[in-house]
Amino acid sequence: MRLAIDALSHRYGDELAVDDVSFGIEAGELVALVGPSGCGKTTVVQSIAGHVRPTAGRIALHGEDVTGVPPEDRGVSIVFQRSTLYPHMTVGENVAYGLDARGVAPARREALVSKHLELVALDDQREARPTELSGGQRRRAELARALAPSPDVLLLDEPLSALDRTLRIRLREEIARIQRETGVTTLFVTHDQEDAMALADRLVVMNEGRIVGRGRPRDLYESPPTPFVASFLGRANTFSATVLKSNPLTVRRGDETVEIRGVKADVSDDSTVTCHVHPEDLSVRPAESRATNPSIRGTVAHVADVGRRYDVTVRIGSGEDLVAEQVSSPPAVDDDVAVAFPGDRLHLFDRDEGRRVP
Ligand code: ATP
Repeated sequence: MRLAIDALSHRYGDELAVDDVSFGIEAGELVALVGPSGCGKTTVVQSIAGHVRPTAGRIALHGEDVTGVPPEDRGVSIVFQRSTLYPHMTVGENVAYGLDARGVAPARREALVSKHLELVALDDQREARPTELSGGQRRRAELARALAPSPDVLLLDEPLSALDRTLRIRLREEIARIQRETGVTTLFVTHDQEDAMALADRLVVMNEGRIVGRGRPRDLYESPPTPFVASFLGRANTFSATVLKSNPLTVRRGDETVEIRGVKADVSDDSTVTCHVHPEDLSVRPAESRATNPSIRGTVAHVADVGRRYDVTVRIGSGEDLVAEQVSSPPAVDDDVAVAFPGDRLHLFDRDEGRRVP
């Protein structure tokens, strides 16, 4: 294991910002630490960088405890959301700065600066000042500076958050390429599930200071362990129901009985469950149409035309909405509809414990 975080906790006064967090990153892996704003991601990454001394727990690099080691002696580089380039220095001098501090000899330093500016496609901007660069170029200059000393671990703390969507996607691809080419072990921190899923080999999902899910992006999306992970990686598309029968799974919602044919659930009769369906698995039909898939009745509350699809919000109960992604023929607001889904696309969770029901 290149980087191991073991039982990390951190308090700010009375607030437990990070609560018993453990995970590891193998050499060459790109792991995304993802979760909503305020869940403790920055505190974890700052603990790894050495800028925060955790209240409890241990951080190991190559198996060696570095929890008390000063930031500059850890072999860890960090890129922040905000630019930290020195405005009075050229791009080349900024990249060289960290190498000077480490006592790299001039000839070697020049070679490393050229190599890393080329890596991030900024070789023609070596003499430019940071203020002369575009937002995307500044990010790439930061990456070159972070990578030049060949860190054991690269930490990227929300590096794309301040960029517009087009630039964000382009830079995301650049980061993936650079990480592939250098093989640098990387922890990418973001609140954006799309950036995380697009980039990472593995995700570590945090909420309220704790890890609430981990795994390959596709696996976590297809089999979310909790409603929070299902909603965070997809959309908050949940409804509650009471189990009438476990095989085939049959649930009741108000006066509606829904049989999920072909699905058998390990759940006791009369228990209340939380159900989740990703929006792309839902289809909206006229209420009176006969469907083979299970469906729930509702009324169209909103239709958003987002260009490549329509997001149709259907109110299925008081305070319960489902969003269906539909590529054509959207219904109209106030239409009575049925929201249908293939039974095997329903994710079922124990309502009290929030755990996935097999
Ligand atoms: P964001 O993306 O908004 O920065 P985050 O997931 O990175 O969020 P942290 O910045 O680690 O989360 O914050 C976790 C919790 O700790 C939050 O409730 C935050 O208000 C609190 N916190 C963070 N830094 C400090 C600090 N220096 N002093 C007091 N409380 C803090």
